[in-house]
Amino acid sequence: MIAMERIDQVIKETLRYHVINEVNSRIRIRITDDTRAKLIKASYGIYNHSTVELCHWTKSALVKGQSCYKFKFYGAPAGGSHRCAEFSPVGMICSNRCVYCWRPTESFDSFIPSEDLVDDPEEIVQGILRERYRLLTGYFGNPKSKDRAKEALVPTHWSISLSGEPTLYPKLPQLVRYLKGLPSTKSVFIVTNGEHPEMLERMQREDALPTQLYLSCNAPNKELFYRINVPVMYREDAWERWLRSLELLSRLNTRTVIRITLIRSLNYDFKYISEFAKLMLIGNPHFIEVKSYMHLGHSTFRLKRSDMLRHEEVREWAMKLLDEINRLGGNFRHMDEDEASRIVVIQNMSRYIDRWIVRPEEQRKYSNYV
Ligand code: SF4
Repeated sequence: MIAMERIDQVIKETLRYHVINEVNSRIRIRITDDTRAKLIKASYGIYNHSTVELCHWTKSALVKGQSCYKFKFYGAPAGGSHRCAEFSPVGMICSNRCVYCWRPTESFDSFIPSEDLVDDPEEIVQGILRERYRLLTGYFGNPKSKDRAKEALVPTHWSISLSGEPTLYPKLPQLVRYLKGLPSTKSVFIVTNGEHPEMLERMQREDALPTQLYLSCNAPNKELFYRINVPVMYREDAWERWLRSLELLSRLNTRTVIRITLIRSLNYDFKYISEFAKLMLIGNPHFIEVKSYMHLGHSTFRLKRSDMLRHEEVREWAMKLLDEINRLGGNFRHMDEDEASRIVVIQNMSRYIDRWIVRPEEQRKYSNYV
């Protein structure tokens, strides 16, 4: 009876891309068959309401042994990017419709699922690993990738980002604890849009924070926040909710990163640097990543190719931000950069933490190829 009341409540939210019905003798949420078929055609793996994908860098690591900037900056994924499992426990549920999002935001629903309607962490992980196996199939027969493909079946790193807003999954603390408890896990990263500070507070309280938490920060002020992130769930107070997460970041008991995605026609202007710098000092993260918007996926329908920045432009902007933060009393330094990903990372020296999650000299323990 209680379950039915909750189902009614969720249905009232007018789900368009999810259905609620019986799966393996339990009533729960899953992505509709129609949307699922489109996503599978676009190379996603789907398990009920969760999604998984092999990202560009996972494929590159499988075939060429080239890993992404996270490996270069922090030593994660241990062993290389082929050992990264990028997935989302709520692949098509998000509170925003960000203009720069690569994902099909027009097929997102916006609601907070109740605990009794979602899959448990272990079931999600088993489900997405099966889907990941399916996505890896072609790599087992390729002599260049077959050995790395076998390694890829045992992820060392879990990237809870992909699509959808992970903090809307009501069992996220249990999921993080489950992933951290797996023998092969070296790191768990979560990227959040920051509009659900309650979940971050809960994760801190329940000692269930990821190894590294990313907060997206793409707007220096409220007006641009609404234009860039297009919040649809908290139309009235999305900025204030995000500010709460920003403030919380400075107190979280884990590695923290603020990621700024620069979009030429929206937030790149040097006039915004002072406002950005003030926000950085409130969040006081361990690292700040400044990167260019990339003209890929569904974002190509909303933004122009010219909205991407060249790496030198990203570097110039990041160095100005660094100067401004330090002028206002911070103590940050340029740590590293990666031209292929058009990204610069700066490090907080007054909240210092070793950049390496797995040190370069230890990497061989996790792969035959590093
Ligand atoms: S918050 Fe993330 S998943 Fe949601 S629309 Fe923005 S970029 Fe896409």
